Amino acid sequence: MSAPPLVLSRCEGCELLYLPTPGPCPRCASRRATPVEVPPTGIVLAATEVESPAEGWPSPHRLALVEVEDSVRLLAIVEGPLPAAGDAVEVRREGEAYHVQRLRLDPRKE
Ligand SMILES: [Zn+2]
Repeated sequence: MSAPPLVLSRCEGCELLYLPTPGPCPRCASRRATPVEVPPTGIVLAATEVESPAEGWPSPHRLALVEVEDSVRLLAIVEGPLPAAGDAVEVRREGEAYHVQRLRLDPRKE
């Protein structure tokens, strides 16, 4: 796998790890945060397929709720087949969106 590390923000006030946003820490409202690199992998909590997505999106449009380092959760666009809850995925950020792709840990199961 060649995805670069995922960058999260570590709050300098309360140590919370969260998705980088222009705003303050979602827990303590501190504006001081340090970028932290974490492995670009996560576990799928839930995934769904939207058969009639908004104009401009590919159909079917697959989305997954994914948990990465320190229980940080993100909503991501799925590339490839729809993953199941518990599947390991690789996470990539493109602009403001996250993309995930199922990791093939055991090729015999494919
Ligand atoms: Zn904080």
